[in-house]
Amino acid sequence: MEAIWGIGGTDQHHYPTLNEDISADAVVIGAGITGITTALQLADAGMDVVVLEALAVGQGGTGGSTGNLYSTVARGLAPLRKTWDDATIRDVVNARALAIDHIEALVERFGIDCQFHRRVLYHIAKAEDKQILETLDAEREAMRCAGLEVKSAEDAMLPFQMTHGLKIEGQAQFNPLRYVQGLARAVSQQSVRIFEGSPVREVKYPQGVVVTDKATVTAHHIIHATHTPKGINLLHASLLPSREYGIGVKLNSGAYPEGIFFVHDPFHSLRSYRHGDEHYLVVIGEQHKTGEGQADAAYFERLHAYISEHFDVESIAYRWSNQQYSPADGLPYIGRMHGKDNAYLATGFAADGLTWGSLAGMIIADLVTRRDSPWRTHFDSSRFDSRRFTPGKSAMNWARENASVTKHLAKDYLGTRNLKELADVSPGQGKVMTLKGEKLAIYMSHDGELSVLSAVCPHMKCLVHWNGAETSWDCPCHGSRFDIQGEVIEGPAYHPLARREQPH
Ligand SMILES: Cc1cc2nc3c(=O)[nH]c(=O)nc-3n(C[C@H](O)[C@H](O)[C@H](O)COP(=O)(O)OP(=O)(O)OC[C@H]3O[C@@H](n4cnc5c(N)ncnc54)[C@H](O)[C@@H]3O)c2cc1C
Repeated sequence: MEAIWGIGGTDQHHYPTLNEDISADAVVIGAGITGITTALQLADAGMDVVVLEALAVGQGGTGGSTGNLYSTVARGLAPLRKTWDDATIRDVVNARALAIDHIEALVERFGIDCQFHRRVLYHIAKAEDKQILETLDAEREAMRCAGLEVKSAEDAMLPFQMTHGLKIEGQAQFNPLRYVQGLARAVSQQSVRIFEGSPVREVKYPQGVVVTDKATVTAHHIIHATHTPKGINLLHASLLPSREYGIGVKLNSGAYPEGIFFVHDPFHSLRSYRHGDEHYLVVIGEQHKTGEGQADAAYFERLHAYISEHFDVESIAYRWSNQQYSPADGLPYIGRMHGKDNAYLATGFAADGLTWGSLAGMIIADLVTRRDSPWRTHFDSSRFDSRRFTPGKSAMNWARENASVTKHLAKDYLGTRNLKELADVSPGQGKVMTLKGEKLAIYMSHDGELSVLSAVCPHMKCLVHWNGAETSWDCPCHGSRFDIQGEVIEGPAYHPLARREQPH
C-alpha cells in the first residue's frame, strides 16, 4: 500500500542511523511535520538540535494525509463552538490561518517543490437529510462567528446532486511528503542532525537521556513529536485512535475537481492531484476505531464503489490508510509534558494535524526558548496547553474511550480460543490464540511461514487484534500498531511485541 505522495519519486534524502552517543540542546523525537517544523524553529533560535526518527522522514501520519490546509477543522467548527465558546473558535481559526501562512513562507524561503497552492474549501451536502442540513447551517454560523467569509458553493465542480453547500476561500493544498522532506533537507543543511531508522526505546527524563537501539542523545529539552506521546501518559485516556482509508484514482473522462471538498454523506474528503501530465482524484473515508476494523480490504472496495457512483473511474492507482488521534475536548494538546520540566509534546490533532503540527512547532519553540510568543496578538496559545484539565468538556468522550479500553481488556482476555492445531490459522491470516495460558499473535504467510509473537501490547497490556487489510497487529486500546515481525509501526508503545517459539 502506497500513498499518492511518493508519485514520481520523492525528495527522499537518506539520513544515517544513530550509532554513537551524542549531546545537543534539544532532541526532537519524530520527523513528521511537527518534528521537522519544531527542529527548524529551534535551529532558527540558535539551538543545536537532533531529530530521531524510527522510520524515515515523513513516513508517518504526515505522508498518509490528504495534504489539505485549512483554517477551520475537518469535522466542523460548530461542534467546537458548542463544547467551548466563540472566543475559542476565533483563536482556532486565527492560529491555523497563521500556521498556513507560515507553511507558505517556508515553501518560499527554502524553494520547496511541493505544489503548494491556495485553494477553496467546500462543504457539500449531497443528501436531502435534515441532520446534515442542520449541521451545515450550524457550521456556516460558526465560521462567520470565527471571522471567516462564507460564500455559497454553487461553483463547486462536483458531479453530485448538491442540496446545500458553502465555501471559504484562501485555504491551501500541497504534497505533504514532498513538503516535509524538503523542509528536512533544508534544516539538515542548516545545522540540525537528523537520524532515521533510530527508534527511541526509552526516555530518562531526570538525566535528559533519550535511548535508541544503538546509542543515546543527551539533551536539555526533549520533544515528543510522535503523533501520540510515547510510553505511559495520562493523555492517552483522552485520545481516540482511529484509522481512515484513501485511494487515488484515474478517470476515463470528466473533470478533476479543484479544491478541498468535504462531502457530508455522512463524510468523505475529496481532492485532485496533478503530477506532470498525470491527474488523480483522491478520496478519503471509511473511518473506524483502531483495532476494531474488518479484517479484509473492504474499505478500499467501498471507497471505489462510492467514487464510481459519481465519476467515470478508469482504475485505482494508489491505496493507503492512516491513523489519527481525536482529542476528547476537541482541541489539540501542545506544550509541556505533565510533571516534566524538560519535556514537551504535541498530539490530539484529529484529521487536521498538518496545520496543528506546524503550529505546534511554533508554540513549542517559544516554550523551549522561553521567548515571548511572537504570535500572541493573533491567538492565545494557552488554549492548547497539553496540561489542561477539562472534565466537563471531555467527559462524554473520555468515558466512552475508557469504557472501550476496559471492555477490550476484559473481553479479549476471556474470549481468546485455545490453540489446538496450527491449521486453525490459514495462509495470509493472523489470529490471537491461547497456548498454555499465554496469549499469542500467530500469523501464517501465504508461503506457509509462521510468525509467533506475544499478543500482549507492551504499552498497557491490552491484546492486539489482527488487521488483515494492512497485515498488522493493532492494539484497540491506545492505537499501537505492529508489523508481523512485531516491530512498532506507530502508537504509544516503545517496544516490539515479544517473539515466541513456534508451537509444535
Ligand atoms: C486519512 C487521513 C487524512 C488526513 N489528512 C489531513 C489533511 O489533509 N490535513 C491535515 O491537516 N491533517 C490531515 N490528517 C492528519 C495528519 O495526517 C496528522 O495529524 C499529521 O500528519 C501529524 O503529524 P505529526 O508530525 O505530528 O505526526 P507523524 O507525521 O505521524 O510523525 C511522527 C513521527 O514520529 C515517528 N516516531 C514514532 N515513534 C517513534 C520513536 N519511538 N522513535 C523515533 N520516532 C518515532 C514516526 O515514525 C513518525 O514519522 C489526516 C489524517 C488521516 C488519518
